[in-house]
Amino acid sequence: MNAECEMRNVKPKKALGQHFLTDQNIARKIVEQLSPEVETVIEVGAGMGVLTQYMVDDIRDKFYVIEIDHESIDYLKAHFPTLGDHLVEGDFLKADLSRFGQGNMAIIGNFPYNISSQIFFQVLKYKEQVVEVVGMVQKEMAERMAAKEGSKTYGILSVLMQAWYDIDYLFTVHENVFNPPPKVKSAVIKMRRNAVTDLGCDEKLFVTIVKQAFNQRRKTLRNSLRTLLSPDIIADEVFNKRPEQLSVKEFIDLTNLIGNPSSTR
Ligand code: SAH
Repeated sequence: MNAECEMRNVKPKKALGQHFLTDQNIARKIVEQLSPEVETVIEVGAGMGVLTQYMVDDIRDKFYVIEIDHESIDYLKAHFPTLGDHLVEGDFLKADLSRFGQGNMAIIGNFPYNISSQIFFQVLKYKEQVVEVVGMVQKEMAERMAAKEGSKTYGILSVLMQAWYDIDYLFTVHENVFNPPPKVKSAVIKMRRNAVTDLGCDEKLFVTIVKQAFNQRRKTLRNSLRTLLSPDIIADEVFNKRPEQLSVKEFIDLTNLIGNPSSTR
């Protein structure tokens, strides 16, 4: 397929975060990150198929595309007829991923940057199935996802995703390999599901604590989490810390301290 030639006819839609990758080597390199053993691969937002073309033949039976844009769907239908009913017009954020198979699943894509956090929250919803994510996102987002405690970019997504996934920042991608070029640099990350099946704490409370602490990240935990703390634990020295100082494990311990103060002391 001659992607560059066809590209002139398609006007990218800003509202859908459309920045089409034009570099074939990078496209191939992204697809190569997929682990062969996964049972289902879902591409989010295929656009004009620059990644699709490297999967459609090799892994056809287990490969699905979810694309929201009708024009892109028409284009993909015309250029990749073998996709058949594996090409799904719809919103990835609302999709029921279990209908694509019950086994291990990988999500791949050059994600629409305006909804990339929501894409990761959708992944988290299906964490029992989604064992791998290979995705291009805004560089800052990639850094945040992979950041460890102590780093300025460590935040809500770092903790919530790293609780369940090992995350690697693979490589940076320059803006001039997209049409139209985004205002920011991009990066490819790979996430692999870790061995955790149970966090060992109240998982809802864990999410509440992480969000509440980072929403006021300059404050000590004693201040940001005040509404959650009972008088018998408020003096604990862990609350002198700020959220970026706590590892995932320490957030879990903190959740147990707050959730069942008597049993952990
Ligand atoms: N993979 C292509 C296109 C990337 S641009 C490439 O690398 O060139 C992002 C794509 O995601 C666009 O095609 C856009 O239409 C699609 N998209 C945006 N929001 C979506 C959603 N909620 N669900 C599925 N696809 C979406």
